[in-house]
Amino acid sequence: MPLRIPICAFDAKTGILCAKCQAKLSAGQISSSDIVVSKALVKLAESVPEINKSTLQRSYEVEGNYVLEMEQADANAVRAKPEIKQKLEELLKGKVWVIGASNSERRFLEELFYPIRILTVNTVWLPDGSKLTKVIIPGRRPERMRGEIEALKKIVKRVKGIELLVESEREATLRLQ
Ligand SMILES: [Zn+2]
Repeated sequence: MPLRIPICAFDAKTGILCAKCQAKLSAGQISSSDIVVSKALVKLAESVPEINKSTLQRSYEVEGNYVLEMEQADANAVRAKPEIKQKLEELLKGKVWVIGASNSERRFLEELFYPIRILTVNTVWLPDGSKLTKVIIPGRRPERMRGEIEALKKIVKRVKGIELLVESEREATLRLQ
């Protein structure tokens, strides 16, 4: 099968891990989310060619929502067809973010926030020595985005251990006055 996932395709089909994948899970090399997502991708690959030729590098589950880190070209192909994400959300029973894999923190944030554009990323040091990462997004922050942004903050905290502060351009400008 052209689809590449963190566990064997056979395991993903049967739902039973082989000894090798079980050992990877026990060693923390793969997560239980990788297994759940791999099963969904194998199912979807039968009818969705974009998924059938994609590579899942890793995935994260945060409070029933999923982040799928794929190769950049695969993430772009999935984004081009909103119905693929919709099917993934049905199979996984949660919200899904498909992002391109990267080693840069800024890139990770940009991928995760997409289609919301990130204008700037700053580190803010607090008096107690802890730090926040402040992200500024364009315009005002529409009410309908608030839920999404809260979910994104939780994901970033969980996946990268980063405390995120998200401000709209307008909020950031008001602060400077
Ligand atoms: Zn296996």
